[in-house]
Amino acid sequence: MSRSTLGNPQNTIEILQKYRFCFQKKFGQNFLIDNRVLDKIIRAADIRKDDMVLEIGPGIGTMTQHLAEAAGKVVAIEIDKNLIPILEETLDGYKNVRILNEDVLKTDIKKLVDEENEGKPVKVVANLPYYITTPIIMGLFEDKVPVISITVMVQKEVADRMQTGPGNKDYGALSLAVQYYAKPYIVAHVPPNCFMPRPKVGSAVIRLARYEEPPVKVSDEKLMFAIIRASFNQRRKTLANGLNNSDKLNFSKEAVRKAIECLGKGADVRGEALALSDFARLTDFLVQEDQSRTGNI
Ligand code: SAM
Repeated sequence: MSRSTLGNPQNTIEILQKYRFCFQKKFGQNFLIDNRVLDKIIRAADIRKDDMVLEIGPGIGTMTQHLAEAAGKVVAIEIDKNLIPILEETLDGYKNVRILNEDVLKTDIKKLVDEENEGKPVKVVANLPYYITTPIIMGLFEDKVPVISITVMVQKEVADRMQTGPGNKDYGALSLAVQYYAKPYIVAHVPPNCFMPRPKVGSAVIRLARYEEPPVKVSDEKLMFAIIRASFNQRRKTLANGLNNSDKLNFSKEAVRKAIECLGKGADVRGEALALSDFARLTDFLVQEDQSRTGNI
């Protein structure tokens, strides 16, 4: 099948009808039907012939066709088994595409990249199922999957959340993970009429270019993200309560109190007031203050 055959409503409807495909809401299925948006995504992702692309949720293969033409290799993970025969037809003839019928959240992506690309970094491109955007992005970063960039379509609000800082109601663990690992850039805003079926909310394509070195130094990165999660788990509580109540952390109350004091923020400070550099310092203070912490994070 040649390029751009699916990126319009008529061809998408035809193939869906041929296979009597029923959209599954639980899988966040909103297929792209706009070639201009597809072109923007492919251009922003900056795919070269020696790149391996990991696509999450290929759907009927609309974007996969474009990726296969630009990249050396494409590995696409699709959960819905009903889409597999469709993908076999729409990607017939593309020798550089491998489709895996798996749940991306249960896939060991690091192992997959090691096997498929000899551990060399890959580019991730996806029109993400909205219900799992955050775990996918946090997982790619925190599990140390070798990635050069992540170019993804997400809900507009999620794109905003990725770029916001302290004091904003959308500020949270995802904002901090993005700040720590990558430089974000909004590629395009995409209205609901570019999808079939139309989502209720607007979307945005965002490109996250991974930093070679994070912008702040911290003695224990994994612990810092456990602290960040604990701080935002109970937004209405103080930072001290969030850290003391977390079952993933094991610091004494005294260590928490002293570490917050060292930050110079006041005992009642909330997690949402802390910048990334504050979380890094808080982590380092806690490590120093409480040698009794266990490996239970
Ligand atoms: N890439 C296609 C496009 O742009 O038209 C489809 C995008 S659609 C928003 C999301 C896709 O992700 C669907 O095909 C859906 O079945 C798939 N999906 C949802 N949850 C998934 C999961 N846990 N693992 C892998 N694929 C998933």
